[in-house]
Amino acid sequence: MDSKALNILFLSSEIEGFIKTGGLADVGRALPEELAKLGNNVVACLPFYSKVDQSYKQSTPIVFDFLLNHCDRYFVKAYLVEKNGVSFYLIQHEFFDREGIYDDGYKAFEDNILRFAFFSKASLELSKQINFQSDIVHANDWQTALVPFYLKEHYQFDAFFAHCKSILTIHNGAYQGKSHARWLHPTGINPQYFVANIFEDYDDLNMLKGGIYYADKVNSVSNGYAQELREEQTGHGLAHYFAKKGDDFSGITNGCDYGTWDPSIDKSLIANYDLGNITGKHKCKAHLQSNLGLPVIKKVPLFVNISRLTDQKGHHFLIPALREFLNNPVQVAILGSGDPKLCEQLDQLHIEFPEKFSFTNGYSEALSHQMEAAGDFFIMPSVFEPCGLNQIYSMRYGTLPIVRSTGGLKDTVIALDQDNDKIATGLAFNRCNSDDCLDALNRANQLYYDFPVVFKRLQRNGLKKRFTWEAACKEYNALYTQ
Ligand code: ADP
Repeated sequence: MDSKALNILFLSSEIEGFIKTGGLADVGRALPEELAKLGNNVVACLPFYSKVDQSYKQSTPIVFDFLLNHCDRYFVKAYLVEKNGVSFYLIQHEFFDREGIYDDGYKAFEDNILRFAFFSKASLELSKQINFQSDIVHANDWQTALVPFYLKEHYQFDAFFAHCKSILTIHNGAYQGKSHARWLHPTGINPQYFVANIFEDYDDLNMLKGGIYYADKVNSVSNGYAQELREEQTGHGLAHYFAKKGDDFSGITNGCDYGTWDPSIDKSLIANYDLGNITGKHKCKAHLQSNLGLPVIKKVPLFVNISRLTDQKGHHFLIPALREFLNNPVQVAILGSGDPKLCEQLDQLHIEFPEKFSFTNGYSEALSHQMEAAGDFFIMPSVFEPCGLNQIYSMRYGTLPIVRSTGGLKDTVIALDQDNDKIATGLAFNRCNSDDCLDALNRANQLYYDFPVVFKRLQRNGLKKRFTWEAACKEYNALYTQ
């Protein structure tokens, strides 16, 4: 590494390999490991949820206690797991001894604000316990957004943190940790900070907003999304506060973990393949068609989608578009979990098109890899997308992404136009409605049937494309050294 090695304390509510619900976990794993590879000393903390492998409890924990506010003392056990050059600490407390991570399957836990405030301050306390004096504390999303506040207000006279700077990365600005002001006292936020430019948001407490105010640097996970966050219509109500950060707010596009997402070595696949020879991809397609109960036909385009089912991901306009689109000779397979209403509509679509449409309601790592490999196209119609990972995985798997032009999707996919097939990697549409979405699906279908040479060219362009963590980490390192 060129610059001096840094001590980095990284906090995330999810880290892949321990616990994952979405893209944050992928970043939570890859970024610390890559930062360590660059020569930095990295300690990463996450809550010890009951879903995390409980055998980690066999090691001797670090036991300590601390005050979250002036009077409430909490006792903590932290378990160390060393992996790939990073010291991961699992922060254990009965707050995390529940079936769900953020919710009980229907409703967010009522004390989430307190749970994650506890986790944030416990991680800072842990760094003292292990005498890890950080140059940078890197917080992620609303769950750890109180870290910059604690550093500047609770520890302002603590010599241990005197040289420590904070970064807050926004992986999804729609989730802000908004709750009733009654949580101010339990989380140690003095009412004097409950004002409109810090924590107060129309009488509620807004964790993310306070984090943006206090963090030395804020970034989001693509330039496109960073720009959207600054704009009134797309800033999730916080545009003014993002804009106010000026040069202290930037975008860094996520990398992809090509150790996990590489069709030439992917163990979940029935056959491996790569740029030189993609016959394995055809085997993967046949295997998936057969597993999903779709007719095994090579020459019909297979459109796939893997997603959380929430308003953000665009299924509310994708589903009507599919109802039309499925009248063509095509196959569509969706893997997802979330909103029960969307699940119902997807089940209904399967009843209407049993030979052409498959919906798997659930979460499956293995199936997600198999679908990436089997698909000809990956549909990603997000209303907004901070970075998005599946479009990046898709390119690596020779599966053409069809994206809505927003945030990270716009930044990472080169949309096909009249004369850019030498560099294009996918297709795009602009507006969040079924007509535009259907139009993009139809264009993809036409490309597949009528322009196979161009289709293959785009496939190759994608297979060659790389979004490495090495490149992203260099940008983070530059941000840290600022
Ligand atoms: P987000 O973080 O908003 O969910 P991303 O595209 O950034 O979206 O990351 C989603 C990650 O979660 C990807 O790795 C994707 O494959 C995975 N994922 C989402 N839903 C499922 C599912 N039902 N089964 C398996 N993996 C899923």
